Amino acid sequence: MTMKRMFRLSLLTAGLLSAFAAQAGTVALQHARVIDGKGGAPLENTTVLIEDNLIVAVDTDEQAKLPKDARIIDLSGKTVLPGLISDHSHLGMIDGLTAGPQNFTRSNIERQLRQFQRYGVTTVTSLGLNGPLFQTLRAEAHAGILPGADTFGADRGIGVPEGAPPMNVGPDQLYRPTTPEEARAAVREMATRKPDLLKVWVDDFHHTLAHKMKPEIYTAVIDEAHQKGLRVAAHVYYLDDAKRLVAAGADILAHGVRDLPVDDELITLMKEKGTWYISTLDLDEAFYVYAEQPEWMKSVFFRNTLQPTLAAQFDDPAWRAKVLADPQKVKVDKASLQTNLDNLKRLYDAGVKIGFGTDSGAMPLRIPGFAEHRELQLIVQAGLTPLQALTLATQNAAALLGLDDRGTLAPGKRADLIVVDGDPVQDIRQLEKIEAVWQRGQLVSGPVVP
Ligand SMILES: [Zn+2]
Repeated sequence: MTMKRMFRLSLLTAGLLSAFAAQAGTVALQHARVIDGKGGAPLENTTVLIEDNLIVAVDTDEQAKLPKDARIIDLSGKTVLPGLISDHSHLGMIDGLTAGPQNFTRSNIERQLRQFQRYGVTTVTSLGLNGPLFQTLRAEAHAGILPGADTFGADRGIGVPEGAPPMNVGPDQLYRPTTPEEARAAVREMATRKPDLLKVWVDDFHHTLAHKMKPEIYTAVIDEAHQKGLRVAAHVYYLDDAKRLVAAGADILAHGVRDLPVDDELITLMKEKGTWYISTLDLDEAFYVYAEQPEWMKSVFFRNTLQPTLAAQFDDPAWRAKVLADPQKVKVDKASLQTNLDNLKRLYDAGVKIGFGTDSGAMPLRIPGFAEHRELQLIVQAGLTPLQALTLATQNAAALLGLDDRGTLAPGKRADLIVVDGDPVQDIRQLEKIEAVWQRGQLVSGPVVP
């Protein structure tokens, strides 16, 4: 947090911060509308009782038993919901308009984790391309001594020689095995660092890369990972790859299927295997939408996520013209988004397990914190209700990670929550009216302000 922002924050939320942030103890959030993350209708006139790091009770205002020393916050007219959880982001890849291994630094990663947190994303999964520093930062995040969102991750990940991912990363951020034996060795090496998941990049990025990952490589990775008790998330784009990966035992499709409508074969297979699906709707939209300058780009909520060089790019008519000058590319990305939206709805309705993620942080246009809000809006555009979308980003996203200590507001869960001055169940964009973010029972951030 810059001094300037810290000063601003302290001015705006001085009352709350001075009253609550410095002390542990019991806090009662009273008279709130509570979206508990479990998918049911919001609870009105409800009290959330927090003791130290944890939620200890969620009751109606009448039934709530408040300890004498409880500090009370009146949240009449406001909504409380669990902090959002990203199952697919990346840390330390980008800084402004730059991408590369030089960005995998403590200060850059902390900056990103703070930004996620300010936007209500209190848990972030860095799904691959993590250098050795990640182990230290993840341990600090879990211990509550790293500022910003809590962090999970997929260690380095496994890509393709002269293939995916096409990013410029250091040799300590990725394996590119040439044989199944090398792939198994990479899994064993990563397993020693206790990753939360593993990641493989399978496809050829719209046929721009020379090779896809050979099935014998990802089959070896999945087999070795499962022997080590690890699950594998796969970068996919094409329906064919998705089917082969699910059949081979991949645990998570880390992107939506975007070339073709999903079919009964994939749906049946995913349900049979219990495979998770993360649609990353924001990803394809981000390629073109900022050049189109939708009205929401003027909002403080959006502008505040932008580093100066990215803001300047968006304000540059030449950049916008260049993006829009390739109608073929814009057409492909728009078609990918539409297919992705349709497929999400189809898979959701069929009862496939859906997580939540955007690939934020992988490229400059995938903006940490904002991408997650845009993803929720796009999930609603796909035809889910705002409540269903929020359930994906909370309870489901936690379940994908195998975390039972968060994702819902219930006794015993971490007190990671967002206070919103509005009702996102009526209109998902009201989630942008963040009034406060709490993490581990501490008020960590106030409203997003200029
Ligand atoms: Zn990714």
